[in-house]
Formats: sequence, C-alpha cells, structure tokens
Amino acid sequence: MQYPEPIEKLIESYMRLPGIGNKNATRLAFYTVDMDEEDVTKFAKALISAKRDLHYCQICGNITEDEPCEICQDQTRDQHQLIVVEQPKDVMAFEKMNEYHGLYHVLHGVLSPTDGTTPDDLNIASLLKRLQEHEEITEVILATNATTEGEATAMYLSRLIKPAQIKVTRLAHGLAVGSDIEYADEMTLARAMQGRQEM
Ligand SMILES: [Zn+2]
Repeated sequence: MQYPEPIEKLIESYMRLPGIGNKNATRLAFYTVDMDEEDVTKFAKALISAKRDLHYCQICGNITEDEPCEICQDQTRDQHQLIVVEQPKDVMAFEKMNEYHGLYHVLHGVLSPTDGTTPDDLNIASLLKRLQEHEEITEVILATNATTEGEATAMYLSRLIKPAQIKVTRLAHGLAVGSDIEYADEMTLARAMQGRQEM
C-alpha cells in the first residue's frame, strides 16, 4: 500500500536532503502534515526565499542577498588580509570569532581526485584575478579544512599565489586533523589564527 500522493511527494522531497533516508523523510512528512497551516506556510516561504533571494557574491563567492556582499562592500574592513575558505559556512565561523576583520574568498569545495574536482570547478580563477587587481592584499590565509583534500588544496593555492610576492599562511593545527572549520569553537579558531604559519 502507498501513502496518499501528497505524502509520497513530501517524503520524496525530504529524501533529497543530505543525510535523510526513507525512515526520517517519512517521519518529517507526517510531522509536516501535523503542523499548523501558518507554520507550514512560513516554512514553504522560507525555502522559496532562501533560493530566490540569495546568490553567491561575484567577488568573494560568499552567500548574500546583496551584490557585492556586505563584507566586500565594507571599506572599513582590513583590505590587507584575505582568508580562503571552502564554504560560506566557514565565513560565518570566522565572523563569529569576532577577531578577524579582513576579507574572504570562498572556494566552494576542495580539490579531490576521487570526486573529480579540479581547479576549474572551484572559485580559484576569481581568487587569482582578485589578488592581481587588489594590490592592497598582502597576506592570504589558507583556511581549508585539515583533511587530506584541504591540505592538498592549500598546497596547490600556495604554489599559485606565492610568485605574486604575497605572504601565504596556513592556519595552525590547533584544529584536529580531519576536523572542519565550521565546527570549530571560537577559541580554537582564534588560536589557529594566531599560530598560523607561513607556507
Ligand atoms: Zn563578497
């Protein structure tokens, strides 16, 4: 026996989300049916608005409603330092730390031979262009995750950037090997920043 079609459709939609299997999707679908209509409407509107009103900043690749994003627009930020991260979530992690006031660049992934992710798939060309055009940048801090792919990506970028006479640093390993920036607490991140080393 099948559930009524609207439920089946809802289950199917939830199953498209990462980490949600059939069992959880079914639970969420029935939970949604049980919700107040007002809450469901709010939820649906939030989904549509997140998709329609947000995009990636053309300069730094961060997620934003504005173009360019708030950080790229803010001339009071330190224009000499730039942190390179894997995902927009990592920018939030650094901003929460509240000790860094420079710029960012979001790669949207890491180099990965297993997934077939090449430099062309990442936001790397725009980073190099930015470094060329934005002469104030004197230090690039590579803050990819402490995973094999994250390290390889940092090495790759370091080799590309260094000839431009820009200081390239890597976060210190206060971060455990294999750990993700987005899950690091503010103290750990601040320590990793302070202990960063030139590559
Ligand atoms: Zn931006």
